[in-house]
Amino acid sequence: MTERFAPPAGGGCRTAPVLKERGQHEVFCGLTGIVWLHRKMPDAFFLVVGSRTCAHLLQSAAGVMIFAEPRFATAILEETDLAGLACAQEELDRVVAELLDRRPDIRRLFLVGSCPSEVIKLDLAKSAERLSAAHAPHVRVLNYSGSGIETTFTQGEDACLAAMVPDLPATDARELLVVGALPDVVEDQMRALLDGLGVGPVRVLPTRRADDAFGVGPNTRVILAQPFLGDTLAALRRRGAQHLAAPLPFGEEGTTLWLRTIAQAFGVSESRFDEVTSAPRARARAAVSRAAEALNGRSVFFFPDSQLEIPLARFLTRECGMRALEIGTPFLHREILTPELDLLPDGPTLSEGQDVERQLDRCRAAAPDLTVCGLGLANPLEAEGMATKWAIELVFTPVHFYEQAGDLAQLFARPLRRRALLAREHRA
Ligand code: SF4
Repeated sequence: MTERFAPPAGGGCRTAPVLKERGQHEVFCGLTGIVWLHRKMPDAFFLVVGSRTCAHLLQSAAGVMIFAEPRFATAILEETDLAGLACAQEELDRVVAELLDRRPDIRRLFLVGSCPSEVIKLDLAKSAERLSAAHAPHVRVLNYSGSGIETTFTQGEDACLAAMVPDLPATDARELLVVGALPDVVEDQMRALLDGLGVGPVRVLPTRRADDAFGVGPNTRVILAQPFLGDTLAALRRRGAQHLAAPLPFGEEGTTLWLRTIAQAFGVSESRFDEVTSAPRARARAAVSRAAEALNGRSVFFFPDSQLEIPLARFLTRECGMRALEIGTPFLHREILTPELDLLPDGPTLSEGQDVERQLDRCRAAAPDLTVCGLGLANPLEAEGMATKWAIELVFTPVHFYEQAGDLAQLFARPLRRRALLAREHRA
């Protein structure tokens, strides 16, 4: 059963030229990450220090979640709050004290910075330090920026996780640390696979609870579950941890190579690897091939959005038979993405950053069967007759590892099927 995945015939995209663009870009800001992070960390609270725009974004991005007992809020700073910065700090102290008084379940409080110049002037790191001292040991207060000036939407998670790294105690234990907020059910599946391989102890950042804290040190082996965690990876490396570079666990191939990288680092035998992975691999292959019927031979164009674009293009081209025309990504982090680029068949334009009007022109000229883009571009492109997939869904939907491989392919197949049905109805 042992199978090595063949590199692409043209030698992959490691050395392919990259079109670098630095124009206007259309993406959500890093505050969006709060929507999935707050579900992952039930004892955490995210206090956005921002404007009414930030509050509206969170409410609309979180949708129905706002009606549940919320674990995020916005401390709205008006011009008047900044008559003096001392007043703004006092106001923040008051809001935090009231919040913690009302909500003793909060163990981790994140002060999340945003764009308004009033907020930028505040030193939230100092505020977090002061508030941590005031509310220790029950509550730890940390800060990061979700500002749209500094972050695209998945960078919010990176900034949040990176903020937690300096707090981790030191250890010499040989442990595997998986980094990235996965839905609980997916994390459990991953742990079951690693358990089957005999790899452990396995730590996950972020932890579900503050009390699940673990150490980091030179014997920590770090593997990323998401490609957008470059700052967190850098912070862990500064603590001595070693990175296991691997393709991301999307699709059957990505999952197998991700697990194999870990297995090799932890000395798992090939026979045990095959024993543990052969059944879920077969299930994943069957599920992907069912969904891939609608994708095979079709073309795809990615606008830069979530930083998932290159791993997803690898999955769609190698497992679903699609042809990538352009793969745009907000950042091309080579340390993380080289294993992906090695697998990606050559041919597509690789672009980093964005100049949205120019990219729209390229997209229209390329006339792809499917365009993966942000919400702001999807509706106008649909109105022009193009099939689109909202990139944000790929972050909110469980898509990692073997059991989700079929669902991942279905996410791309659905808009093509819908468009084919509409065309048929139109003709009838
Ligand atoms: S882009 Fe800036 S102002 Fe707008 S919601 Fe995000 S952080 Fe707030």
